Amino acid sequence: MGVAHIVQGFQYRPVKNTNGDTIHPIGLVLHVAQGNGSQFNWFNDPQSQASSNLWAGKAGQREQYVPSDVRAWAQAAGNSTYDSVETEGFDTEALTPEQIETVAVAYADGVRTFGWALAVTDTPGQPGLITHGVGKVSWGNHPGCPGTIRAGQRHQIIARAAQIVGGATSPVQPKVVALQHAVHVAADGVWGPVTDAALAEVRTNRHTRAEQAAVGATVDGVWGPLSQAAYVATVRTIQSILGVGVDGVWGPITDQAFAAARSTYFTG
Ligand SMILES: [Zn+2]
Repeated sequence: MGVAHIVQGFQYRPVKNTNGDTIHPIGLVLHVAQGNGSQFNWFNDPQSQASSNLWAGKAGQREQYVPSDVRAWAQAAGNSTYDSVETEGFDTEALTPEQIETVAVAYADGVRTFGWALAVTDTPGQPGLITHGVGKVSWGNHPGCPGTIRAGQRHQIIARAAQIVGGATSPVQPKVVALQHAVHVAADGVWGPVTDAALAEVRTNRHTRAEQAAVGATVDGVWGPLSQAAYVATVRTIQSILGVGVDGVWGPITDQAFAAARSTYFTG
C-alpha cells in the first residue's frame, strides 16, 4: 500500500479539511449528506471543520476529497478507524442504483487495498460497512445518519462489492449473499437448506426462537418489542433486496417477489 490512495474512477478533488494523518481503515462509514450537489466547497471551507473521504452522487458522480489512507473529518472518534462516504440526497430517499454501484466500487477497493471484510456491521470497532449513527456520541452524535432506508441497503452494497472483487465469472449470487446477511446465516451466495429455513422463519413469522435468530434478536423465546423491531427491520432489508416497496410488512407483493427469488436461487 502506498500513500495517498485514490479509488480508481473517482475524481480526486483534495480539500483543506484534513490534518493529513495516515490511517489504516478497517471499513467504511455510510453517511447521508442531507443535501444535493458536490460537497467539495463545504469540505474545502475551513469553517465547516468537516470532510469525508468520498462522495457518491445520485447520477453516478464519484468524488474523492481525502485519500483513503488519510484521516478525514466525518465521524469524530471514528475517523481513525474507518473511511467515510457521503451520499447525495436525504435520509427519506433510498440510494439510487448508481450510488449503490459507487459505494460498492469504493468498498471493493477497500477489500483489495486494506483487506476489508465483505460484511455489514453495526458494532463500532468491527470491520465492515457501518453507519455513522451507531457510533453515537463519540462519533459526533448523528443517530439518524444515514437513516434506516440507506442503512438497510448496505447488504446490497456488500453483495455487489463481493461480485466486483470476485470478478464477473463468480458463481456467487449477490442477491443471495444480501439475503443471507439479512437473516444472519453464512453468506456464501448459495441458497441451500440453512438459508431457506432462516428465510422461511421470517416469511411465516411464528415468533419462534429460530425466527429471533434469523432477525438478529436475542434468542430467548419471548417475542417482545425488540424482537418485533428486529423483525420489521429485517423485512425492510429483504424488501429492498427484492426490489419491492419497503414498508416492513410482508404482504402479497413481497411474498410474490420472494417466491420468484426462491424459485430462481434455491438449490434444494
Ligand atoms: Zn454522517
